[in-house]
Amino acid sequence: MIETIKALTEAFGPSGREDKIRNLIIEMIKDHVDGYNVDKIGNLIAWKGEGGEPVLFVSHMDEIGIVITNEIEEGFYRIEPVGGMSPYSALSRRFIFEDGTIGVVSVEHETFEDYKKALSNMTFDNLYLDTMGKKMKIGTFGVYMSSFYESGDLMMSKAMDDRSGAAVLVELVKKLKNPKRKFYVAFSIQEEVGLVGASVVAYPVDVSEAIAIDVTDSADTPKAFKRVPMKLGKGPAIKVKDKMSISDKRIVDKLVEVAEKEEIPYQMEVLIFGGTDAAALMKTKDGIPSATVSIPTRYIHTPSEVVSKKDFENTVKLLSAYVQRV
Ligand SMILES: [Zn+2]
Repeated sequence: MIETIKALTEAFGPSGREDKIRNLIIEMIKDHVDGYNVDKIGNLIAWKGEGGEPVLFVSHMDEIGIVITNEIEEGFYRIEPVGGMSPYSALSRRFIFEDGTIGVVSVEHETFEDYKKALSNMTFDNLYLDTMGKKMKIGTFGVYMSSFYESGDLMMSKAMDDRSGAAVLVELVKKLKNPKRKFYVAFSIQEEVGLVGASVVAYPVDVSEAIAIDVTDSADTPKAFKRVPMKLGKGPAIKVKDKMSISDKRIVDKLVEVAEKEEIPYQMEVLIFGGTDAAALMKTKDGIPSATVSIPTRYIHTPSEVVSKKDFENTVKLLSAYVQRV
């Protein structure tokens, strides 16, 4: 399980460049599913079991990143975020690119006054990438260069958003040897730039409900945002709403019922910002009742996203019990 998360989070796969991460997931699941398919835009969908009311689980496989926009001078480039990356999270970080280049992001300043100004109002306009002289093509994608680390119950890596969700689905297909009803696991593309893959991923399948598995914010550091109730280690968060959609109440009620019956710890989530693939799933085809199960995470969209092993395991348990509930 830890190995799965480590391998998935360390893999390269910013939005729009999901080939490597998709191939890795296929390797991990192919012997544990009844079949799989990659659709025309690159979503991966696999299925297992027969009969019942089929359910679709979706985790996005892309991660946030950066892209080269233009050359400033040889070895120095302007960059643009791919997905929601703060310039503050990019500053002084190493990035690795699809062509193998490694570079560091820094901030332009000619005077101390400049520097202070740039730090107080940082934008991608005053950041640059230093490739140590290496020539790069415009449009080359990169991601944080960051490795997996674990301590006690906690794990830290880039791309826990949403490779921890992808890892849940990988573990789910391994765990459910004889599912009581058919289920699909989908690994969507380009979630971070606008839920692109999830908008069409359900077209080839006939499902009566869908659940997105994604990370959510948590507030369990000394001065955390008080309006966020989620905490690491308190179980998967059953989302009631976020900024982009309201979970289907029937699914939320069933998730709570299953968690209580199986004595799986869980927490309720009301997020006052953000959105997941569930928002796109609700609006696809003639409407698929959808909800989200979240893994509480610290430092989302930074190179050091932190999640709890217990929450991860309990998310696998909850979804597995949800499939078997008939
Ligand atoms: Zn994200």
